[in-house]
Amino acid sequence: MSVLLADTRYWIFDLDNTLYPAEAGITRQSGQRMRHFLKDRLAISDDMEAQTLQRRYFRDYGLTLVGLIRHHGVDVQDYFDHVYDLDLSAIAPSPDLAAALAVLPGRRMVFTNSPTEHAERVLDRLDCRAQIDAIFSIRDAEFQAKPAPEAYRRLIDMHAVTPEQAVMFEDIPRNLRPASDLGMRTAWIRGDMPKHLMDGLTERDFDFVVDDLAGFLARTVAEQEWGVHT
Ligand SMILES: [Mg+2]
Repeated sequence: MSVLLADTRYWIFDLDNTLYPAEAGITRQSGQRMRHFLKDRLAISDDMEAQTLQRRYFRDYGLTLVGLIRHHGVDVQDYFDHVYDLDLSAIAPSPDLAAALAVLPGRRMVFTNSPTEHAERVLDRLDCRAQIDAIFSIRDAEFQAKPAPEAYRRLIDMHAVTPEQAVMFEDIPRNLRPASDLGMRTAWIRGDMPKHLMDGLTERDFDFVVDDLAGFLARTVAEQEWGVHT
């Protein structure tokens, strides 16, 4: 494990359900707000219809918002204001994660399909904002959402990332494929991922499978410091 990560200088983290556990229920909350937005702004009365549209856009574009922009011309700020008005109190401060992030060699980045404001609020809740060097948001990606390869290329350009020295942590399996194609190592945050979101990928498709991110990072650094190479 340590051999593969020994030369890592770019630590790239997805935000939601990666830096905090999926059990916090934030995705469920934002999903509900998204459906409410769809029903209200697109004048859809039926819950199922709103959910079907949401899922289709998520599947086709990596992010529901991208479908809403392309097909309905929604106002991005209006969408963000509505969907990201979230109760984040279920996200607890994580001193273990802060400590593990603090000692990683190189740059620590958040790569998210959400806006910067949301990322900052989440990092504040975790008490990990000072340990993150950069946030690459959906605006930085010019709304090319993960898993669009263009998003990864923009991140690499903007932050001068050497992909061969990068590792990406992410809970949505398909979002790791472009990272791997570009030469990054991949670490899948295994959660209770519904089968349809596995997109035919299995644990063998990733360099690492991670259950406890803070523990994984701490072990990785400790192994390198002690020169363990097996
Ligand atoms: Mg995520």
